[in-house]
Amino acid sequence: MKIITSVRKMQAWADQRRSEGRCIALVPTMGALHAGHDALVRTALSSADDVVVSIFVNPTQFGPQEDFNAYPRYLDEDVEILGKLSSRLTVFAPGVGEMYPADIEADRISVDVGDMSRYLCGKFRQGHFEGVATVVLKLFHACRPHVAVFGLKDAQQFVILSRLVRDMLLDVRMVGVPTVRAADGLAFSSRNACLSPGQRKAAVVVSQAVHGAEEAIKEGEQRSEALVEIMRSILRREDDARVQYADVVDADTLQPIKEILPGQHVLAAVAVYFGGTRLIDSVFTQAPADQGIEKHDEES
Ligand code: AMP
Repeated sequence: MKIITSVRKMQAWADQRRSEGRCIALVPTMGALHAGHDALVRTALSSADDVVVSIFVNPTQFGPQEDFNAYPRYLDEDVEILGKLSSRLTVFAPGVGEMYPADIEADRISVDVGDMSRYLCGKFRQGHFEGVATVVLKLFHACRPHVAVFGLKDAQQFVILSRLVRDMLLDVRMVGVPTVRAADGLAFSSRNACLSPGQRKAAVVVSQAVHGAEEAIKEGEQRSEALVEIMRSILRREDDARVQYADVVDADTLQPIKEILPGQHVLAAVAVYFGGTRLIDSVFTQAPADQGIEKHDEES
């Protein structure tokens, strides 16, 4: 399998493939690959001729107090896993100097994601989504994909990057892959490796919380306050769970909601700490359409 570490070589490779009429899909990752990444790569393989998996732990999306240095890095193992998957895969694993040639501190140009970073994770991770949008734009310029595949697990990221593509007129088709979960429901995450066995067991409440909210929405609960309480009460079952947020927002704008409208697409999301490990989970769902008018017609 080909491993490319330089941006110029990556661009030359992509140009060559494009000139041959081949469709390129990109799967951006920070490595430490797991079953969630595997689903993304398989989706990419079924959507394009060639797939580039980028492995880059992006410093600009980590805050000063966050786990950039402690983030798991297993490049050799990742390359071995990918090598077994398909001969149509190429790994792009640039160093920080390749992606930020003027050095991180000296970088002056970055992507502003507007008020979409004010809610959910963005509220607690200042600069995170600007860092994500900036590095993804750079990855698009380096890898020149036709298709980009992301996980819906990082729901706010997916919504913001879809807006980046739309607003900046990027010629890239966004594909979202549903969250891949362990048997007990916990979403796969590179950070799960940082949980103690006890925390790992307790972490099941994270997915239970968002699914609890989803169920209540489907049953007609419209009040955000009630939905937040459902999520929080599930998370309270575990003493180790420290909730950063539990929220219900509009799925397109990420704006907070007081009362869900009939048929509205919403996102129920949580971020929860177990010790120093922060886990997120979310579900996109749609409120039932208003049955009232139909009922009224039937009655009259
Ligand atoms: P990361 O390496 O954590 O930055 O994730 C790289 C990509 O994998 C992102 O698009 C994530 O949303 C996606 N991803 C991570 N975990 C999962 C999962 N459990 N299911 C589906 N996609 C995932």
